[in-house]
Amino acid sequence: MSGGSEGKSVIPEELAGRRRRMLERDLAGRDISDPAVLAALAAVPRHEFVPPPFRLRAYDDAPLRIGCGQTISQPYVAAFMTQALRLAPGLKVLEIGTGSGYQTAILAEMGLEVYSVERHEDLSLAAEAVLDRLGYGDRVTLRVDDGTLGWPEETPFDRILVAAAGPRIPPILADELADGGLLVMPLGEIRGRQSLELAEKRGGVLYRRRLLEVSFVPLLGRDGY
Ligand code: SAH
Repeated sequence: MSGGSEGKSVIPEELAGRRRRMLERDLAGRDISDPAVLAALAAVPRHEFVPPPFRLRAYDDAPLRIGCGQTISQPYVAAFMTQALRLAPGLKVLEIGTGSGYQTAILAEMGLEVYSVERHEDLSLAAEAVLDRLGYGDRVTLRVDDGTLGWPEETPFDRILVAAAGPRIPPILADELADGGLLVMPLGEIRGRQSLELAEKRGGVLYRRRLLEVSFVPLLGRDGY
């Protein structure tokens, strides 16, 4: 398959307007300015990643329930994390928390080689089905496991995106980040104060910066909660 833009479902008229509003008001109207990120958010049909009763609300700037007590990330936050990672086609990225697969699709749409871990098998299987149907299947490898344990067989990664909030950056993920690489992750309390942090690895050391106050579901597992 040559590109993620082929084989997409046709977007119903009503959703098209809502999708435009998301791009103009909630993303470009705020601080999402990277044209490649905006193009990816324009290309990925978010309504395909939410349960049918929520389809009409798919382009609201809000998280939505996806089952197993989890949520699909708010479009602005997905775009913000994508932009923070300063991506370029061909980079190898590890995602922890596949969830619905929406963020996974954005990364694949941007030409990345994506490895994504999810602890709920049901979510991973549902995400796999949508990603395959939309033509992203051959850029994405999914695994059901505890993502705080990393993906040793595929290390190192140029970028790491953690989509659930933990108490600390899991040491294994820090180790699996390539030198010069970037990691983005929400850190903080369960249902309490959390901030999205960007860590850059240089000479084996992580240099960290807080970017945004956020609210994510907890990162569970050995090096999570
Ligand atoms: N970006 C996703 C949002 C995922 S929500 C989307 O757009 O749909 C966070 C996900 O992280 C949840 O699905 C949760 O099950 C998963 N998760 C939490 N702890 C995890 C762990 N240790 N390993 C793998 N997945 C984990």
